Amino acid sequence: MDVSHLLDGLNEPQRKAVAAGEGPILVLAGAGSGKTRVLTHRVAWLVQAFSYSPLSILAVTFTNKAASEMRGRIEHMLGFPVGGMWMGTFHGLSHRLLRAHWQEAGLPQSFQIIDSDDQKRVIKRLIAAMELDDSYWQPKQGQQFINHHKEAGRRARDVHAGHDPQQQQWTKVYQEYEDYCQRAGIVDFSELLLRSWEMMHNNEILRQRYRERFRAVLVDEFQDTNSIQYRWLKEFVGPQSHIMVVGDDDQSIYSWRGAQVENIRKFENDYSGTEMVRLEQNYRSTSTILNAANAVISRNEGRMGKTLWTDGEEGELIRLYAAFNEVDEARFTVDRIKTWVEQGNLRAEVAILYRSNAQSRSFEEALFNAAVPYRVYGGLRFFERAEIKDALAYLRLTLNHDDDTSFERIVNVPTRGIGNRTLDIVRQHARSHSQTMWHSASDLIQGSELTARAANALRSFLELIDALSTQMADLELFEQVEQVLGETGLLVFHGNAKGEKAETRVENLKELVTAARNYYQDEEEEMDPLSAFLAHASLEAGEGQADAWEDCVQLMSLHSAKGLEFPLVFLTGLEEGLFPSQHALNDPSRLEEERRLCYVGMTRAMQQLYISYAEVRRLYGRENYTTPSRFLQEIPAETIEEIRTRNGAYQTPWQGSQGFENDSSAQAENGLSLGSRVLHDKFGEGVIMNIEGKGEHTRVQVNFESVGIKWLVLSFARLTGL
Ligand code: ATP
Ligand code: MG
Repeated sequence: MDVSHLLDGLNEPQRKAVAAGEGPILVLAGAGSGKTRVLTHRVAWLVQAFSYSPLSILAVTFTNKAASEMRGRIEHMLGFPVGGMWMGTFHGLSHRLLRAHWQEAGLPQSFQIIDSDDQKRVIKRLIAAMELDDSYWQPKQGQQFINHHKEAGRRARDVHAGHDPQQQQWTKVYQEYEDYCQRAGIVDFSELLLRSWEMMHNNEILRQRYRERFRAVLVDEFQDTNSIQYRWLKEFVGPQSHIMVVGDDDQSIYSWRGAQVENIRKFENDYSGTEMVRLEQNYRSTSTILNAANAVISRNEGRMGKTLWTDGEEGELIRLYAAFNEVDEARFTVDRIKTWVEQGNLRAEVAILYRSNAQSRSFEEALFNAAVPYRVYGGLRFFERAEIKDALAYLRLTLNHDDDTSFERIVNVPTRGIGNRTLDIVRQHARSHSQTMWHSASDLIQGSELTARAANALRSFLELIDALSTQMADLELFEQVEQVLGETGLLVFHGNAKGEKAETRVENLKELVTAARNYYQDEEEEMDPLSAFLAHASLEAGEGQADAWEDCVQLMSLHSAKGLEFPLVFLTGLEEGLFPSQHALNDPSRLEEERRLCYVGMTRAMQQLYISYAEVRRLYGRENYTTPSRFLQEIPAETIEEIRTRNGAYQTPWQGSQGFENDSSAQAENGLSLGSRVLHDKFGEGVIMNIEGKGEHTRVQVNFESVGIKWLVLSFARLTGL
């Protein structure tokens, strides 16, 4: 068969990688150099040139969206569908394994996945049940402790807490949590990986079976694999298997979730005879954008060292906008997007990127007011809305009565007279008998511990769920959803409530029926439609939103932008304490990670890049005067054009305060001037670095010894000169 067309549109090193032999391959290359493209072509090559069956290929991508795009391209190249190919995220693939082998994994068949919110809630309850003070033993910290150990492949019994009483206590919480999840048949996100890894690792027969099945394992965004993911991969790669990974150390942005960029080096050691391929030509961005991004990332130390060049156009300068505040930043952005669309371009070609999901709100507002369609990736997604989670909890409970998380969530939603006192008795009973809530409730309604009223209320709830479970057996998936919305009273409950929000909730619930109707189950997945749908809701919900095909502006965090590209990119909120984020300011390694994030952001842009910051920002309900991000100073001045809109009053970050209306000899009202030492009653001693504005609007920037740099309004700040 002629396979040469699979090498079309590739440069020399790319071809070399695509047409390489069957030994291990590591592609290490910068942003936009065609790594993902190489991976895609390689899969097609394996199938067509080496006659691999699509069934024998396991490909790991970073998002489900990336997986489905890759599948589409491969099918296009090959000219036939490759349905049986295992392609997805680590979590998605782990889930698939656990569904197929729930017995081997030691799980109940109807195990359910809980998201990170639910996980936190479970931990909070366990902390309370252990009679620990949750203002000290914070659930969020417990969650981090547990996930951290799971990501490193450690069960509670494997944690070496040493003599540290705090570590010992958290280890106990972890143990309780493990026991609880096992009893309830629930699995959190990190558990998906840990559990499937353990299963593969300990089950020789299963491991052999999969090693024989998967002749090739391919991984995109390899730099962001964590320890358990790395080990997980190894289980699938036997002596006969082919493995290819592609990645970029400069784009490693998940070390806070345990990602280990060292895995790249480890790979070369663990897979002997690894062929290393480097791609150096960037095909994505203009040379201006690429030079600027290269300059920023060059500030990091300990890089693996790569060259990245382009023979593309120089393109336009990067535009920098200093907004007055976040509203101004959003207004400016939307203005420019309108111009872009008026020039005949698509909205979908535009991305607004931010460091923190909370920043999306002001952009959403501005886009909404300007009637520009947009879609937010991440943030509060459809399947994360409270009413949807209620409905899903009912569905889960019908499948698995032992799912305590769901039980707790909806036992009194809508209100049915099951109060906290009753629930406390059920919880107590559950704990002392090591039972689930459902079992305890069934016991208690027989006994005399509960009041007659409470017992009745609880009995009707159990009967309701039981009845639903029976009725649903013969229904189509969407009818099951309809049935639950109707019988549980959820629809009526929200329908009777007043106000716009209640209306939206009803709409959302109805949308859930539509979602179920449109849900397409991967035929190879061995599970009933409802389980599959619920898993989909937990796992995949976030990545797309309703009306996915409408031409709309894309809003997302920098983290979720990885791997994507857009003709027009707005990189927003470049302020110290936001980007780089607060906790990175005094931590060199975190700072380097933030810089990589900045590099990821800049290299998403193909033709035009806008960068903005707000001088005053209201975020998380607080208003702060900001300092421009240090990353701005790292971008070569000749690649930047400033946009001046407000009477030329404009700060040029790399020129200190010279761009201000008040020049650097500025004298503030009460005799304080640049360089003065001052005392603040809360922050202590500091030095004035900057003065701006007049009269009651005068602001000063002070470098405090204890808390670092802050902007203060002089008339409020009560500073005394020293
Ligand atoms: P990232 O590091 O951001 O994930 P990447 O290395 O995976 O980037 P790709 O997304 O595969 O890069 O490619 C970047 C862009 O360059 C894509 O639009 C791709 O189609 C294009 N491209 C890659 N290689 C070539 C080539 N040889 N000729 C023309 N265009 C190419
Ligand atoms: Mg890529």
